[in-house]
Amino acid sequence: MSVKKRTSKNVLLDTALKNFYAAAEEMGLEDGLVEVLSRPERAISVSLPITMDDGSVRVFEGYRVQHSTALGPAKGGFRYHPDVDIEECEALGSLMTWKCSLAGIPYGGGKGGVSCDPMELSMAERERLTRTFAARVAPIVGEWADVPAPDVNTGAPEMVWFMDTISKLRGKFEPGVVTGKPISIWGSKGRTAATGLGVATCIKELLKSVKVDVKGARVIIQGFGNVGTFNAITMDKAGAKIVGISDITGGYYAPNGIDVEKAVQHVTKHPKKLLEGYTQPGLEKISGEEVLFLDADVLSPCALEGAVNGKNAGNVKAKYVVEGANGPVTPEADEILTDKGVLLIPDFLANSGGVIGSYFEWVQNLNGFFWTEEEYNNRLIPIMTDNFYRVWNYAKAQGVKPRRAAFLVAIKRVADAVKMRGTFL
Ligand code: GLU
Repeated sequence: MSVKKRTSKNVLLDTALKNFYAAAEEMGLEDGLVEVLSRPERAISVSLPITMDDGSVRVFEGYRVQHSTALGPAKGGFRYHPDVDIEECEALGSLMTWKCSLAGIPYGGGKGGVSCDPMELSMAERERLTRTFAARVAPIVGEWADVPAPDVNTGAPEMVWFMDTISKLRGKFEPGVVTGKPISIWGSKGRTAATGLGVATCIKELLKSVKVDVKGARVIIQGFGNVGTFNAITMDKAGAKIVGISDITGGYYAPNGIDVEKAVQHVTKHPKKLLEGYTQPGLEKISGEEVLFLDADVLSPCALEGAVNGKNAGNVKAKYVVEGANGPVTPEADEILTDKGVLLIPDFLANSGGVIGSYFEWVQNLNGFFWTEEEYNNRLIPIMTDNFYRVWNYAKAQGVKPRRAAFLVAIKRVADAVKMRGTFL
């Protein structure tokens, strides 16, 4: 490969680029395609002036990056977090391109977000922020252009405000401009649980493949937001023992198993939807980081990127890591884990249930015809299972790690599309 490789000071983007170049080199991707796929098609920054509840005006920074539309409309969430910047969106957008490609759905990849601390915002401020963001990105989003969705700290309310603002600006109802809407407003039954259910499906298939009985298998779930919660619920139902859970309020360790139903109820009732104050017989309160080091079969990091890193990966005792979040294991940590013999199932395979579920919602929106939750799950689980084995078998056949296998499969489909569509202008 003779292209000048791009690097970035942003760790997530640098990692995404390194992973891409390494896989591209291994598959002998031609230079022109490497150049095309190592850059986003479009990246915009928007400023968002918001009148706060106290009457003052604050200007927030927002972003939307469309990494690729080779396979279809750009697809990917938007998040609210103080660390959001354009490079993070670029990295996560490229991950969406590979995720959608690997999942076999007709989408490219994108990501967006607003740099803010959502915990400091009232609901009214959140609404104004979301509507202003929607208005600013309106020229580039659309059901056949770019379809956002929930991500870190965004969910059903934000999606309705986004859809409503776009629809009003366009003077026509456009439900398919965003996915992850509430069921009552053109959302889909099953979508809320889809990502967690997909991660749990991967954990179950992995355990089956390595001949560990899911019944009694000890699982740690780091992060108890949407993904972690539904992952925990599904694994608990399958008979696994959830020995540790955590969120920003710390870690909760129960050697005999967390009472998942009780923990979920606690979070639902908590004003900020947190585990803070959760207790049950035999529970030990530990730090959020310590939960990663518990003795278990599986560790499933379902919070933010970089949770398992060069500094702490050496302390991980689990034999299997299944990434529920996007980029929770840094490359350094990945190497440390590999040296320890830990097997890792990568994010863009394990958490693809979310975007596959989004695809189902979009299909229903375009048709104006809705499925039952059973129909939804009966389609989701076989797709996740097939995708797991596609990567698992490819990794085995090629003698590479599942992350590399997933990249090779995903890049190939996008590269073929770029080649067939060609370049113009
Ligand atoms: N934010 C989720 C992800 O990272 C879902 C994206 C979507 O449904 O478009 O996969």
